[in-house]
Amino acid sequence: MYRMTQEGDTTVLVVDDTPDRLDFIEVLLRQAGYRVLTSGDGGEGLEVARRERPLLVISDVSMPRVSGIELCRSLRADAELSSVSILLVSALRRDDASAVEGLRAGADDYLEAPFDPMRLVAKAARLVERARLEAVLRESEERYALAARGANDGLWDWDLRSGEVYYSARWKEMLGLSADEADASPEAWLARVHPEDVDNLKGEIRAHIEGAGTHLEVEHRVLNAEGDYLWMLCRGAVVREGEGRATRMAGSMTDVTRRKCVEEQLLHDAFHDALTGLPNRALFMDRLGHATERAKRQGECQFAVLFLDLDRFKNINDSLGHDAGDRLLVEVGRRLEGCLRAGDTVARLGGDEFTVLLEGIEDPSDAVRMAERIQKCLAAACHLGGPELFVSASVGVALSAFGFDGPEEILRAANTAMHRAKGHGRGCQQVFDSAMHSHTVKLLRLETDMRSADARDEYETHYQPIMSLVTGRVAGFEALVRWRHPVRGLVLPGEFIPLSEETGAVIRIDRWVLREACRQARVWHERVGGDSRPMVNVNLSARSFLQPDLADYVEGILGETALGAGDLNLEITESVLLEEADSVKSVLFKLRDLGVGLHLDDFGTGYSSLSYLRRFPISALKVDRSFVAGMGPGGEGSEITRAVIALAHSLGMEAVAEGVEAPHQLELLRGLGCQYGQGFYFSAPVDASMACEMVRSAACVCGTWPKELAAKASSVSTTSAAAKVPKRTRTGVGAVSPRSRRRGQTT
Ligand code: C2E
Ligand code: CA
Ligand code: CA
Repeated sequence: MYRMTQEGDTTVLVVDDTPDRLDFIEVLLRQAGYRVLTSGDGGEGLEVARRERPLLVISDVSMPRVSGIELCRSLRADAELSSVSILLVSALRRDDASAVEGLRAGADDYLEAPFDPMRLVAKAARLVERARLEAVLRESEERYALAARGANDGLWDWDLRSGEVYYSARWKEMLGLSADEADASPEAWLARVHPEDVDNLKGEIRAHIEGAGTHLEVEHRVLNAEGDYLWMLCRGAVVREGEGRATRMAGSMTDVTRRKCVEEQLLHDAFHDALTGLPNRALFMDRLGHATERAKRQGECQFAVLFLDLDRFKNINDSLGHDAGDRLLVEVGRRLEGCLRAGDTVARLGGDEFTVLLEGIEDPSDAVRMAERIQKCLAAACHLGGPELFVSASVGVALSAFGFDGPEEILRAANTAMHRAKGHGRGCQQVFDSAMHSHTVKLLRLETDMRSADARDEYETHYQPIMSLVTGRVAGFEALVRWRHPVRGLVLPGEFIPLSEETGAVIRIDRWVLREACRQARVWHERVGGDSRPMVNVNLSARSFLQPDLADYVEGILGETALGAGDLNLEITESVLLEEADSVKSVLFKLRDLGVGLHLDDFGTGYSSLSYLRRFPISALKVDRSFVAGMGPGGEGSEITRAVIALAHSLGMEAVAEGVEAPHQLELLRGLGCQYGQGFYFSAPVDASMACEMVRSAACVCGTWPKELAAKASSVSTTSAAAKVPKRTRTGVGAVSPRSRRRGQTT
């Protein structure tokens, strides 16, 4: 650090332990116009020098505590005092040794006492002038050093006492100012700083002057002569006086506009979707977080989140290619932006999912109206080069007034509402309400519960016999899962399978049941053998079918349990076949090739499209129990049942009637040539050991179980409907003529 020369500064310090001589020199110099400080001790003299920064120190050579030589060394060692002149005075005549030593220690001159007063004054004058020159030189050297640090940097030097700022030519050039253009006041400089940055810059400067940090380093924008803002890195340091008072601040200014632009681009990329340029999830969540905070602080500041998912976007992508899909997404983003107000945020979360944050919602109907407006905007035909495209979106709406906990929860709610809207068909919208809320809560609780169910082996399988209506014997069993809940007791699948389909837990459950049922079937086979080996049917949810490795998994389980593929049937629902995905198709054919049977469950309740029945390798149709229940004189169930059975046979499939509860149903089914029947009339689902007994019992002819078994068959079941079936209807089925059973699949 260097010291600014002050014009007119004449401070001289005299250090001498001989009071007479001290007084004499003081008077002499004072008369010559100097400001004179005195000290009778070397140590104290050094302190005074450090504090007052005299231009010249005149010191006696020999002093008791700190000698003049030592004082000389200390002064020279102090960087802050590097430009001070030192004159040593000796009381001893011809003291050559101390003269040499003094000069070596850094003294500028030497004077022997008694001395000629005029010589002393002349020497002092020369040394004071020398010190002053040296300071000026150093100052410009410092400036030069700063300049050398970067030829590209502009330099500034602000005299805090006079309030004047010196700007280097480069400084002015950087801003496109001519040499005489820059005003020397700091105000003129600060006036060029970007309004958003100026307070920070001022604050940093103030803090540094007051002592914070070793140097100043601030990035800010400065207006150039052309009216553009450039990013500058401003570095500087304060120069302090003896008592730490800041007298001057100097530094450099580096143009960092290029780097800033790159940084800004990176920052932009981190928060925006590359395809559409819209904010991405991270930015959306940030804005949503701010909106949540604001709403918490100011109650009336409500907002809404819309969650959009394009309808059948996958179809477009698959049929027209990804390029078209991408163009469509860009177009959708553009339209969304177009139909919103300035303060609203549209984001693309990924895929075909978009979200909108609507702020300043006064009434829930505002959000709904906005959702309608969006639907309208999207409805117009898209011309993207190829064929004209029409898009629609399912929209879920979550209103902040509902009282969510945080941004994640709001987004989840809007997503839940969107799924609900999707369930209503294309282009629908749905507001998240308390019914959905309690469903979500239930779902969450179930999810947690099920996680521990997995770990604690709380699932078990029950088996319901499937009777051959031809032989009257057990042809197989349908495995039906139950959850033995530690608190709720035995829970039926209707209470957890649909929810587990939403959470995805169903995949694990299905796989567990599959392994368990195959293992069990193998046990039965070991007990009976031969032609009467029962088959086992396992239900698989659509989600399990969407796993591309399903066929491999099934093959693995068959190998592990040593069960023949022909002894396993998988029950699937029509929704699986509606999935156009190629993967589903290939899984179905792989299973067929393994030799596993595929039974279409609940047939007649869904879409019942003939075309997919022909396209997929289905081996049997299960007539839904609602049709069987409607069978009887005048019931239209008979007609449907007849049609389904006929359809199965015409396609080379077998028919299995579900929900057989009464003898007349059995009679009618037999009359229609239905091969298999299942229902409380024969038996409710039973546990594994009971099923084993049923297999072993040679006398398990249709409807006539041995007495003890018959009693158990209706009581073991947990299905309440089982109890409703009157006991007497379980008897009196005539013997049926035996016919060889089908093995494996029929197609
Ligand atoms: P589902 O596949 O249609 O299974 C037949 C259901 O009808 C069983 O109910 C069974 O107890 C009941 N049932 C049997 N006979 C009669 C009858 O005569 N009358 C009446 N009213 N009902 C009868 P459960 O065990 O409660 O299973 C309900 C549904 O849960 C099943 O319907 C199936 O879709 C699903 N499910 C069961 N186990 C699994 C599984 O392991 N995985 C999957 N994904 N779903 C399963
Ligand atoms: Ca089933
Ligand atoms: Ca069924």
